[in-house]
Amino acid sequence: MPFPIKVCVVCKEEFELKPDKPGFANRCPECSVEEEPEETGAKGSMSAEERQAQREADAERRKAIRDLLYRKDR
Ligand SMILES: [Zn+2]
Repeated sequence: MPFPIKVCVVCKEEFELKPDKPGFANRCPECSVEEEPEETGAKGSMSAEERQAQREADAERRKAIRDLLYRKDR
């Protein structure tokens, strides 16, 4: 069964959008892997807004996990 063909917004290459592809739907697997989430590096490819949104999403996820662990502990 063929997957939809998308054009990566980063490298402009065409790629198959597989249902279980990690990362962004508009990025090819290679460019999705390259993206290191929340590492403080010299990567200027993300806009401040994107970084902020990702940081908030990460913080929320971490908080949810912590809540879950605490609840399990007690
Ligand atoms: Zn790409």
